[in-house]
Formats: sequence, C-alpha cells, structure tokens
Amino acid sequence: MPGNLPSIADLLKKKTADSTPAPVTVAQTSTEPATIPTATQTPGPTTSAPASVVEAPATPPPTAKASIIIGGNETSSKLTEKMQNISLRERETEVERASQTKKIPYINLKGFPISPDALVLIPEEQAKQLKAISFLFTGPELRIGSTQPEDPRIKELAFELGERHKTNTAVYIMSEESFVQGIKMYDALPKIKPIVKGVQITEEEIVKFQAQMTDFSSIAGVLEHSNVTDVIAVVIAASLKLGSSDIHIEAEEKGIAVRFRVDGILQDVAKLAADQWKKIIGRIKLISSLKINVNDQAQDGRFTIYQKNKEIDVRVSTIPTSFGESVVMRLLNPDSIAVEFEALGFRPASLKKLQKEIEKPNGMIITTGPTGSGKTTTLYAILRKLNTSDVKIITLEDPVEYKVEGINQSQIDYSKDYTFAKGLRSILRQDPDIVMVGEIRDLDTAEIAVQAALTGHLLLSTIHTNDAAGAIPRFLSMGLAPHLLAPALNAIMGQRLLRKLCKECKQIVEIDTETLVDVKKHLDEIPEASGEAKVDTANLKFYGPKGCDKCNNTGYKGRVGAYEILIKTVDLEKTIIEKGTISEYDMRELGKVQGMVTMTQDGLLKAVDGITSIEEVKRNLGL
Ligand SMILES: [Zn+2]
Repeated sequence: MPGNLPSIADLLKKKTADSTPAPVTVAQTSTEPATIPTATQTPGPTTSAPASVVEAPATPPPTAKASIIIGGNETSSKLTEKMQNISLRERETEVERASQTKKIPYINLKGFPISPDALVLIPEEQAKQLKAISFLFTGPELRIGSTQPEDPRIKELAFELGERHKTNTAVYIMSEESFVQGIKMYDALPKIKPIVKGVQITEEEIVKFQAQMTDFSSIAGVLEHSNVTDVIAVVIAASLKLGSSDIHIEAEEKGIAVRFRVDGILQDVAKLAADQWKKIIGRIKLISSLKINVNDQAQDGRFTIYQKNKEIDVRVSTIPTSFGESVVMRLLNPDSIAVEFEALGFRPASLKKLQKEIEKPNGMIITTGPTGSGKTTTLYAILRKLNTSDVKIITLEDPVEYKVEGINQSQIDYSKDYTFAKGLRSILRQDPDIVMVGEIRDLDTAEIAVQAALTGHLLLSTIHTNDAAGAIPRFLSMGLAPHLLAPALNAIMGQRLLRKLCKECKQIVEIDTETLVDVKKHLDEIPEASGEAKVDTANLKFYGPKGCDKCNNTGYKGRVGAYEILIKTVDLEKTIIEKGTISEYDMRELGKVQGMVTMTQDGLLKAVDGITSIEEVKRNLGL
C-alpha cells in the first residue's frame, strides 16, 4: 500500500492532455489517506455534517493546505444563484473539514473531467447504492470518491477493483453534489456490459508462469519474486504443473506456508513473507466469492479456471487459525479421473474377473477404502467404460465433482432434504440402466440400493470400510436383511493408491531380513486359484526411490491402485443367508477359497515388478 499518493493533478497530467483542463479543485489533506479509520459512522444520504465534524474545533482549515484552484466561475449575477453557490460552497467546506478530521483525501467533482473508462469500473446501480464514483483511472492508479468512504462495502469495492484491474486504489471523500455530478455522467455512457464477478486467472498467465518453473525447487523462487497480485496465479500454475490435488496456504507465526499435496503426500513449496498475508487471503476470498471482511469463521467457496480444452473447478475452504487463516484449495482437475478402466492398475486376472461383473445387467458393485484411496476414480472409470448411447446412467453424488458427458449427474442437497435415500428413489423412477450412488452410509439408502440391484439395475457405490472383507459385515450391522443383501451383490472391491517409483531414478535396494520374511509370507500365500503365476520368492529384487529433477526429488511419480476383488459366489451367498451374519475373518477365508489376491499381495506383486517400492506398500497397507 502506498505511503504517499500521487496528487490528482499529477495523475491527470499523466493521463495525457487530450482535453484542456477543466476546473479542478484538489485538496491533499493527508499523507496517509489509504488507511480508513475503523470507527464506524452511519453516513446519511444528505450532506449534513457527521457528528465528528460538528465536534471538531471551529477553527477554519489551515490555509497552508495544498489546495489548487484552477479556473473558476464568478460570473453569475443573479442574487439567488449567488446564494445557492454560497450554500454549496459551505457544504463543500464541511466535507473538506470532515476530510481533515478523518484523514481521508477530498475531491470535488464539479467540472472534473471524469473519463468513461474510469466511470464504467463501477456499474451505475452499484454506484447509486454505495454513493461511489470511480472518477480517475490511469491504469496503475484508480481513484474512487464516495460520500460515505468509511462504509466497509466501499473498502471492499476498492479492494476488488484494485485486484481485478491490477491497480492502486484510493478512496476520497466527496459531497453529495459531487456524487450527483458523477451519476449524471452515466447518462452519457453507452450501455455498459455487466462486469463478471471475481478475478480471472487466464491460461496465458498460467502458461507464462509455468515457463518460469523448470523444476520443483524453482517454484519457491518464482513465488518469492512475484508481485503479490500474481501470487495466486503463480501458485495455481505451479500446482497444475505438478499435478497436485490440493493447495494449502497457511498463515504461520513468522510467515506464510505454501504446500501442495502431490500423489497423496503434502510437500512444502515455499515460505512467503508474513506481511503479504492480507493481500493474499483477500485475493483468494475475492476469486472464490467469499466474504473478504470475515476472518473469524470458516467459509467455503469455489472458482473455475478456464483452460483451452477443459475447466478446472477449485473448491476453497478457509478456517480461522491462531495466526490468521488456513486455506485449502482442492483442484478438481478432470485429468485426475480421466484414467481408463484398463489403466487403473488391475492385474490381468483381476481385470477379467471385474469386467465380467460390471457387464452384468444388474447387481451391486461396491468399492471400499478410506478417503483418498481412489474409489471415485475407479467408479468413474467403470462408468465411462459402460457409458454407451444405448444405456442410461444416472449418478447421485455429494457433491458432483467431475462432469462426465452422457451421464446424468444429480447432486445431494440436504437443505432441500434431497438425501441419498430420497434421491435414489427419484432416480429409479427415471428408468436408468446403471445407477451410481456416491456413498451408502445408512440403512435407508442401503435398502433402496439393494432393491434397485434386485430389480434389473446395475448399481455402483462405495462404503466406508477398510477392505472388501469389511463390507458385508458393515451392511449387516446397518440392519440390512441377509436374504436381500446376498442375492443383490455382484462384487466388492478394496483399494489403496500406491505411489509409482520414478522411472528415471529408481534404484535397486536391499530390504531388511524381517521385512523380507513378511514379504515372502504374503507372496507365498497368493492362492493358486487366483490365476497369478507363482512368484519365485528365493530370487527377489526390489526397487526404491532416489530422487531427480523429473520427480521433484521425491523418487515417485504418479500413482497406481492396489486392489482386491471379492466376487459373490454361491458359497458366499449361502453362508450369508444361512448364518445371517459373517465375520471379517470368515470373509477373508472365503476370499482365499475363491482365489482372491489381497490388496497387500497385489501391492507386493507391483513391488516385485518394480512399479512401486516395499516401503510404499508398507506405508499404505502394512505388512
Ligand atoms: Zn526421479
């Protein structure tokens, strides 16, 4: 924020001399006009002096103030006109005095050459509502006059205009007469197009900033040297370049921490100076339509980054913390779910099994796993595979994060009582072939889902359990009848996402004896019925991460799924119906009998193949 504002006369001179200077009255009363006192006042619509001015000493403003009067109009002869002018001047003097008391610079717009390019920055409606006129715009500098300069909405408007047009803004106090003068100017304007809310981050900006980032470590440098108004665009450019899913920006005691989540792991990106916080948080709130002046409450917003051939929605959440606020921006990059079914990471035998199940016209396919285990990606990949013109697919999501063409996606709305259960009932009346329900978390939804699966629909959904073996016990504990659940099921999947070793720098590593024993045990237990070739556990070779330019020195790049698929067999169906209950242990035993490869075994097979490391399997799945 500038300590000293350039004078209006200087700004007008700079704005090129395209017209002869009109009469201008300029009063620079303070060297620090940009700080608006927090003491609030209720400004009235008339020019009657605010209380503080009445209480001000009766001494006239010092004559030494920088007041320039260019030209004048002293030719009027009629007494009434003279009287009017005197009272007008008195009112102007009152505003001038208020300007001194409040330390807000003063402007008189009578005869001021307001240019259309300045005026259009505030739409007429808003100008009337806020009693504000944008009266001077040179490009780098913007000046706004208002009869109520202390109104927080004016402060917000000034900030918003400053950010949107990348310009320095300052608010001036003016009289009601000045405001009327300004408003009259709108009549001379051609019809103004409504201004788009928010700030755009252009593809050009993103491309420009990405070009400056050669590797991970250069991002911090680019960030630290960028203009505060560019910081957010730079952060987003970097985040897209690294394929990160979340951006974390947090006010800390001695600075601002910027971190990205890449491949599921949070990584430090840069530390910025603490004094930039206000501007940064302001800009984030502005682009995501959050309340700029609210910083003691959690807020949620969103914005969209438009790129040539895709749109990336960004969900923004802020929460207050001890040193300011913490911001998390989730980038819903369509690329992140654009994984083909065949590229998810299923081994050939599992892929064949699953394919058979999803091609059935009815039944339930359930995926399990904690948040962030890639369930959504898997379900979307299945949906896209099944998405042909001769089937109708409807989804029920909370919220709809990624839009897929050819699929009817509907969103849960608890405020309108559109819950999973109610939504699912409505969806079934739409005669779909395939239904995807974001999550089954209660008996109501579970019962309708089972009914749907039993009446000729293929139903895909997720349930929040650790692994495939936990799903059936969870459904039964919800109160779902075993004789309905058992025939409705097709398959249950468990999954985790493992980071893939960077192909450029992966290296052979030794594993400690204890780990090796565990690894061998898991691999030896892979059932013969699985269709997997027997692993030669006597001659195992493993790779680990090293780190290079290509992988941000993490040693990993991209992720792959580790899966287990439990197929509903006649045996399983019989067990569930006859016993009415089943333990996770029994489920696992049944899995072994039908040849299920567990997530851990699947992960280890991927480590044997050099796709991931043993430590990554251990971190995600344990051994
Ligand atoms: Zn590497």
